[in-house]
Amino acid sequence: MTPAAVVVSVGDELLAGRVLDTNAHWIASVLRARGVPLVRRVTVPDERGAIAEAVRDALRRAPIVVVGGGLGPTLDDLTRDGLADAFGVSIRRDAVLADALAARTRARGRPVTESTLRQADLPEGCVALENPVGTAPAILREHDGTLVLAVAGVPIEFRTLIERHLLPRIDAWPGRARAPRTDSVTLCGIPEAEIGEALADLMVRDRDPSIGSYPRLGNVTLVVTSTASEDDEARRRVEGDVAEIRRRFSASSLAPGRALPAEAVAAAAVAAGATIAVAESLTAGLVASLLVDVPGASAYFRGGVVAYADAVKERELDVPASVLAAHGAVSEAVVRAMAEGVRRRFGTTHGLATTGVAGPGADRGVPEGTVWIAVADASATVAVTFRFGGGREQIRGLAAGRAVDLLRRQLAGLPPTAP
Ligand code: ATP
Repeated sequence: MTPAAVVVSVGDELLAGRVLDTNAHWIASVLRARGVPLVRRVTVPDERGAIAEAVRDALRRAPIVVVGGGLGPTLDDLTRDGLADAFGVSIRRDAVLADALAARTRARGRPVTESTLRQADLPEGCVALENPVGTAPAILREHDGTLVLAVAGVPIEFRTLIERHLLPRIDAWPGRARAPRTDSVTLCGIPEAEIGEALADLMVRDRDPSIGSYPRLGNVTLVVTSTASEDDEARRRVEGDVAEIRRRFSASSLAPGRALPAEAVAAAAVAAGATIAVAESLTAGLVASLLVDVPGASAYFRGGVVAYADAVKERELDVPASVLAAHGAVSEAVVRAMAEGVRRRFGTTHGLATTGVAGPGADRGVPEGTVWIAVADASATVAVTFRFGGGREQIRGLAAGRAVDLLRRQLAGLPPTAP
């Protein structure tokens, strides 16, 4: 049977909000890729009793328990003691390990102290596993069909030790089902809620395949996963759903293997021999940054202007003062003039522009979240408007994401917005 897992993160700093638990985040995706359900993640303070309780509770829920952190040499590293309490055993010092730690410490010219040697303390019934990237060895207990592995919390150590000591054991787990079959498709420019409605018949709870949605900057990646036991059947189900999603959102879905609209821009720009310049007001460089996230962007991306102030829109992009005065900076007339101006100034085939109100609050009577985006090419200028919510950061991010998507649609000869 495919085993489930629980991850216990140990550390006051995680609970205090000083350190983000990137270890748990990382291991969750690693386990998912192997088809191992992570059924619980808990974070406990550097307290012996809390660690013991969390490990005991974890073992009631899943046969695989990973404990991260609290294995260092200092007195507040209490994972060893917590494990011993959880297993109801005492701690003994492993003489071979102690010698190895002492030799290693001396070789680095450091004095061997009690702190060094504490890392050779092991709960009875546990074994120490090599840590090639740090000092504290991992601690493993395999007992009665369960596996508890405690590893250091430093992210590079955590990852190395999990890859070296946990994953091979999971792969060899008796009777384990093979990893689920999964594929993904990224949709651009459609709010997640609308996608949910359009796919309501597929996104039903407990259906196989399952479909998870992950929004980012105005794009939503849908991950389709089948746990069907027959490989061919799982593949057929996943391919069926992916094809159906693409059919329903043809103009908004990226080609297989692409997760970013900027990748589609790259392919289309190279194929068409297009060149691009950007004029950004509220996004102030975010659009340029998204475009150059794609390696090889220099083949088509020329540069841009951050035109935050009206005077810069006039001076660097030739937006007429009369247009600014008549319509205001956040307007269709101005965004069109910005796109056309940057295209002319940079001598590119395409000019892309953004203007809007990031907030907080309205600007000169224009409500927060109002955004205009335009793309100009030799034959026409297309402008679209949005009203985004969610605060300054979200508004700027969505505006940048939508601007790249507008360019993608224009280069592909598609309508400027999703139907
Ligand atoms: P060491 O042997 O280095 O002392 P340790 O097992 O004692 O390792 P901790 O003392 O708990 O690990 O943490 C060491 C470092 O790793 C700290 O800087 C901590 O912020 C970081 N860290 C610990 N746990 C996590 C986590 N879950 N995610 C990200 N960073 C973490």
